[in-house]
Amino acid sequence: HLDRIKAVDADVHAFLHVSGESALEQAQAVDRARAAGEPAASPLAGVPLALKDIVTQQGVPTTAGSRILEGWIPPYSATVTRKLLDAGVVIVGKTNLDEFAMGSSTENSAYGPTRNPWDLTRIPGGSGGGSAAALAAFEAPLAIGTDTGGSIRQPAAVTGTVGAKPTYGGVSRYGVIALASSLDQVGPCARTVLDTALLHEAIAGHDRLDSTSIEDFAPRVVDAVHRGTTDGVRGLRIGVVKELSGEGYQPGVLESFTTAVRTLQDAGAEIVEVSCPNFEYALATYYLILPSECSSNLARFDAMRYGLRVTTDAAGAALVSAEEVMSATRGQGFGAEVKRRIILGTYALSAGYYDAYYGSAQKVRTLIKRDFERAYARADVLISPASPVTAFPLGEKVDDPMAMYLNDLATIPGSLAGIPAMSVPSGLASDTGLPVGLQIMGPALGEERIYQVAAAFE
Ligand code: GLN
Repeated sequence: HLDRIKAVDADVHAFLHVSGESALEQAQAVDRARAAGEPAASPLAGVPLALKDIVTQQGVPTTAGSRILEGWIPPYSATVTRKLLDAGVVIVGKTNLDEFAMGSSTENSAYGPTRNPWDLTRIPGGSGGGSAAALAAFEAPLAIGTDTGGSIRQPAAVTGTVGAKPTYGGVSRYGVIALASSLDQVGPCARTVLDTALLHEAIAGHDRLDSTSIEDFAPRVVDAVHRGTTDGVRGLRIGVVKELSGEGYQPGVLESFTTAVRTLQDAGAEIVEVSCPNFEYALATYYLILPSECSSNLARFDAMRYGLRVTTDAAGAALVSAEEVMSATRGQGFGAEVKRRIILGTYALSAGYYDAYYGSAQKVRTLIKRDFERAYARADVLISPASPVTAFPLGEKVDDPMAMYLNDLATIPGSLAGIPAMSVPSGLASDTGLPVGLQIMGPALGEERIYQVAAAFE
């Protein structure tokens, strides 16, 4: 895999950092243990993995795709990283992302965009475009992503790979740089559903270092995949969400979705149509809650504690106060999208506007959760396209934030409700010839069901 990275990553640019030597050493240690007849640490021992560069790994540079963290070496590892290393997984490097995971195309990275291996002139999705592209380009068989509004599922969809967002609290967030704490989830990415399930089990579980981590919840998703492969989906009620198709969705995506519905029906599932009327407000709700939380989370980048520190003004004169240093550092260290959201969030949380914006958004979030609850009374899982469009050309939406935000039309409701959801490849769009992803959503703690259904597309 290191050879493959060397051969293709100059074009793809999936990685921000490659841990060449230490990865090789780690792999060789696994080989030696195997040769000595020692039991493997886990089924994934020795398997290479690409880690999204928003998850800390002790001693390895972590940037979150931002200039403000350039040169920062974390003194500790995220729980997820620790679990992976304990399982014998070989972390080959850190992958590119939109700055602080804000974006849907990886073009907001301060270190240049990642390209889609299916067509190098197109985006690989975002924010986890690096992880998805590393999989699609065969630079690694496993990857870790984070999903706040779709950053695992939408990149998976547009690169023809698999990605799952666990139930909120199912995987520890400790050591993962926070975007929006009430939405962020770490999740597994791979090229097959079974690999995704194996990785899911390796990272899931309670962590006392994360106060929102769920206790006593260990979904048996590998068994669920095997069950799906042998028993299929017969008897399962699968809900098609009326509001998550139609306007705003590319014809080739809708066509592929209709074929996927037919596949499930032919395999014995009962298809029901469900309506979730408040999903119409999901995007607006998300773009109040997310900026609010991120404006608060990103306050820690104060030029004192981490990374970049700008100490002179444009003319080279020394800045004298802490406030001036902070202001200059944040001015230079953050990109345009990050600043846009900090400003929006600060405004939405300010005295006099809090109730009208943040408070209302929280109420609508509850209504969206209730829509899901009602839908799950009628269906075991819900499905929709994972992304409204296939991979678009680089540069097409960079100057139009609203057009960029619309890429998460289908994934954001599930994020607001904290439910588990994944994207599996459902074929190529007839209009663009590019991969389409099917989104499978379950009720909270319903990981096993979604993996069982996903197995039908393996
Ligand atoms: N594209 C969405 C955003 O920009 C999702 C980001 C994410 O899931 N990290 O907020």
